[in-house]
Amino acid sequence: MKSNIKVALVGNPNTGKSTLFNLLTGLNQKIGNFPGVTVDKKLGLCKLADGQIAEIIDLPGTYSLYPKSADESIVLEILSNKNNPSFPNLIIIVADATNLKRNLLLYTQIADLRIPVIIALNMIDLAEKSHLQIHINHLAKLLNVTIVPLAARKNIGITELKKAILHCPTIALQYPSIAIENIATALIAEISLELKIDNPYIALQIAHQHKSLKYIDKANHPLIEALKAKHHFNSQKAQAQETIARYNYINDVLADTVKYPAIALEENISNKIDHVLTHKVWGLAIFFGILFTIFQSIFSWSSYPMALIENLFVGLANLSHAYLPQGALSNLLVDGVLAGLSGVMVFIPQIALLFAFISVLEDTGYMARVTFMMDKLMRKVGLSGKSVVPLIGGLACAVPSIMSTRTIENWKNRMITIMVTPLVSCSARLPIYTLLISLVVPNKYVGGFINLQGLTLMAMYVLSIVMAIVVAWVMKKIIKSREQGYFIMELPVYRMPRWHNVGITMYESVKTFVTQAGKVIIAISIILWVLASYGPGNTFYNIDKKYQNNKFNNFSVDEINKLKAAEKLENSYAGVLGKSIEPAIKPLGFDWKIGIALITSFAAREVFVGTMATLYSVDGDDTKIEPVRNKMAKARNTQTGQLVFTTATAFSLMIFYAFAMQCMSTMAVVYRETKNIKWPIIQFVYMLVLAYGCSFVVYQVLK
Ligand code: GDP
Repeated sequence: MKSNIKVALVGNPNTGKSTLFNLLTGLNQKIGNFPGVTVDKKLGLCKLADGQIAEIIDLPGTYSLYPKSADESIVLEILSNKNNPSFPNLIIIVADATNLKRNLLLYTQIADLRIPVIIALNMIDLAEKSHLQIHINHLAKLLNVTIVPLAARKNIGITELKKAILHCPTIALQYPSIAIENIATALIAEISLELKIDNPYIALQIAHQHKSLKYIDKANHPLIEALKAKHHFNSQKAQAQETIARYNYINDVLADTVKYPAIALEENISNKIDHVLTHKVWGLAIFFGILFTIFQSIFSWSSYPMALIENLFVGLANLSHAYLPQGALSNLLVDGVLAGLSGVMVFIPQIALLFAFISVLEDTGYMARVTFMMDKLMRKVGLSGKSVVPLIGGLACAVPSIMSTRTIENWKNRMITIMVTPLVSCSARLPIYTLLISLVVPNKYVGGFINLQGLTLMAMYVLSIVMAIVVAWVMKKIIKSREQGYFIMELPVYRMPRWHNVGITMYESVKTFVTQAGKVIIAISIILWVLASYGPGNTFYNIDKKYQNNKFNNFSVDEINKLKAAEKLENSYAGVLGKSIEPAIKPLGFDWKIGIALITSFAAREVFVGTMATLYSVDGDDTKIEPVRNKMAKARNTQTGQLVFTTATAFSLMIFYAFAMQCMSTMAVVYRETKNIKWPIIQFVYMLVLAYGCSFVVYQVLK
């Protein structure tokens, strides 16, 4: 569908922009990328009254055209450049009726870009409830702009808004609010002349922000800097001057059009709730209660649908093996592609659940309080108050948790959270920990009731969290921020969550994961499958032949298959790789069998146990730890005759799995969230170095 009306939604955060976007476009949404920033580009199509289609783009929420984050700068980038592919022919300013003064600041800036504007005056229901009187017609006349009152949450006013969009070709430009030229008369004139710009406000913005505007040729930077110096342009002062002038104008306009009630009812109720929810003791207790519930949900509730999905794929694989002709292609389809697909789908319940929770927390206004309560503490180590949710979520799984960092506005805080979340011990490490602990830690009680094995397990979890905090602190010192440090804290009033919104958030997050990170995961899992299922030359053929020999006659088919599988894995490409890295991992106490497991378990850490089971060709399926354990406990090094799994090796291996990025799905998600291959690579390398170093120390000390 082609459309000739391009609409951009612009507004302060929390004004209901996403709600409105969802209402206008329904499920006709497409998520894309803005070049160079992490925020998603949300596009959608909206059917108007007479069969026309409008293309809607949702721009990141911002308080002003002077961005406080890299993501926000995309707003000016698009709106000040007619050649930008996303340049709209209509802007809808979504304004919160209960907060008009601050919302109109952005409006007056946008109006000065000279693009037709409509104001969608949202939250009109709240304004009415709190007895705020807005004379909309008068306001519209004073600003010379169309104002459509809305209550997006209640689906009120949408039809009128669609009608207004339809009239966009006839919309007159707004009245200018302030005399821009007065701010830097000569400079604006010269920039306009040199860069051939016909809008004084855009010229002024270029003086302020030319370095972050990508469409301004770098070659022009020295010229603009020279002009700024020549005219003694002080960016901060000019910004202040502009803002004050705008607020003067807005105050005048509002004085004639808005009557405020004594104290807003909503605020009153919200304040009362806040007494409890942000209380030093109760507030924290409730917060940790909520975190615990979230953790439970992704750790245990989602295990049921996850098992269902896994079983479904196992069934599908069995069916395919039974009905597809035997051969390399079938194997690729079933063991490579289908297994990869299963590895993607299995994350859906966790992602959907975590996002449902987060969406409710955001929707109700509680998330803002979380930031408020935790921010001071978390900032000390370079994290944000909102990082608590992904970090706790990381105890279950890093994949949904890293996706959930989207709610963190500050770029640096968000990057650090993404970087350290995989250090937190996730549930996939659990089978490895329990296997290794059961091998070397005696099942004894100390002090009568503390189980030594349980204590070790807990120590691993605590260690992982401490390490995440330490690394965050180090990264805070290293990573350079591209953003100004100031922070506008806003505590919105409490509201009931909107389930439609929650549903869409869940759907969208699952969809982006499956379609974007999923591709990478499937590709890597196919590569890993090939590595583990094929070997150089005709080794595999020879192995098959060897077991046809009569001397295996007194083995059962099952036993032969297991021996064959073990020998094939040992001689596969993964096996060759595992053996070739042995010299490098020897100082950590690992042999080539562990080396192979390190390679195959890059798919997911839990694969370690299965690989060990195959290599030691023992009884039972992958999920049964017991038989693997017995074989491993007895395993001896063929050359030295010493036990393979000593205390030193087991602890070294646990530490390695605790800190190394042994998870392709996490890497795929980090890539998708940061939109830059640099970050997953940095993360992989730093975690590998950390894991190697710590394992080395542990092994050398314990041995
Ligand atoms: P965004 O940050 O601008 O995208 O805002 P959201 O769409 O996430 O909305 C922020 C909050 O305001 C959510 O809790 C919405 O349910 C709520 N909300 C949105 N529109 C309205 C409305 O018209 N009336 C009321 N009472 N709440 C609304």
